[in-house]
Amino acid sequence: MSVDWFPTVDEEKCTGCKICLDFCINNVYEFRPLKEGSKKGKVYVVNPEGCIRRCAACMKLCPTKAITFPDPKTLGQRTGKISDKKDAYLKNVDKEKAKAIQKQT
Ligand code: SF4
Ligand code: SF4
Repeated sequence: MSVDWFPTVDEEKCTGCKICLDFCINNVYEFRPLKEGSKKGKVYVVNPEGCIRRCAACMKLCPTKAITFPDPKTLGQRTGKISDKKDAYLKNVDKEKAKAIQKQT
């Protein structure tokens, strides 16, 4: 994998609630049903490159603490470019949606 910042989902802990998937606007996650047609399933990381470095918002929203990220100390220096990208991302996140999700958890 070429990126050094991406979520990992613990399949054992994931309940398939889709909070992370609904929150992330970068299509990092995908829901896969346990069997065809079933509403029960798990969320998988399908687009790690889409993840915004040091964001970690989905990790904070996950009610079962199934999402983890690399230790930020192991990453290189944060550049202005990355910081700008994250700030732009957070501005674009639907704040009302985020609040609603946080109330559910
Ligand atoms: S928020 Fe957590 S429990 Fe819910 S689908 Fe995402 S990883 Fe699974
Ligand atoms: S850390 Fe941010 S950008 Fe990355 S998957 Fe979670 S919500 Fe999406």
